[in-house]
Amino acid sequence: MNVRGGEIRSLYVEPEPHEREIVWPALEFIDVFKIFRSGPVETVALRGLNLRVEHGELVALLGPSGCGKSTTLSLAAALDDPSAGEVRVGERSLGRLDEHELADFRARQVALVLQRDNLWPWLSARENVAVSLQLAGSRDTRSAADEALRQFGLGSRGDQRAGSLSGGEQQRVAIAAAAARRAMLVLADEPTGELDGANERRVLGALNELRASFGSTVVVVTHSPAVARAADRVIEMRDGTELT
Ligand code: ADP
Repeated sequence: MNVRGGEIRSLYVEPEPHEREIVWPALEFIDVFKIFRSGPVETVALRGLNLRVEHGELVALLGPSGCGKSTTLSLAAALDDPSAGEVRVGERSLGRLDEHELADFRARQVALVLQRDNLWPWLSARENVAVSLQLAGSRDTRSAADEALRQFGLGSRGDQRAGSLSGGEQQRVAIAAAAARRAMLVLADEPTGELDGANERRVLGALNELRASFGSTVVVVTHSPAVARAADRVIEMRDGTELT
């Protein structure tokens, strides 16, 4: 404010449009199509999907089998390219990244948690987290791995072979690995699909802990009503596009 001779004049000047800061959502799909071709057979997995997930949201992706949920996650993780449309993660448009930038994105920014087989079963829980940290370029991987395991209630499991952990513990080790490397986008495909109620609650707690501690954005594909209830928002899909 500028006060001169009783006159109050605002010094605020409306910025020119190009000077305004753009706040990108954490994840955005803009009119995305994905067509799989196998010989003469074409399968349209996504047909004009539009999604927007804000930073720090926990979103549940629901829909019948075959409606394109896993395809959506693999495009968001930059494991595959859309046939048309744009996938953005924060300020990045994934289609514009070169191979080097894509490798860096996959190693540091995004984490994928699947229903099973997330870990190297013959390595210990600590080694699993440490390898994920090494791939992301970290040096002090052992103590960071131990700290992450402690944070997710697995402090006593560091030396245990991952393959001998329970399903719920394995999921939490995978989430601890995402936490250790501060993955900003965590994509989980039916992470509690094979777990009982108590273990499902623990895994859900771990996903919530991820965003509470690090502000990660979490997208969970699920059929579980408990996971859908715990989410901030449910996005329903049908036939390769969004309903809500
Ligand atoms: P959801 O996760 O909802 O079950 P998907 O994304 O796995 O659905 O699959 C959507 C559609 O795309 C299905 O018809 C599926 O058979 C097809 N599809 C998925 N991946 C491939 C692939 N690699 N090659 C051919 N078709 C595929």
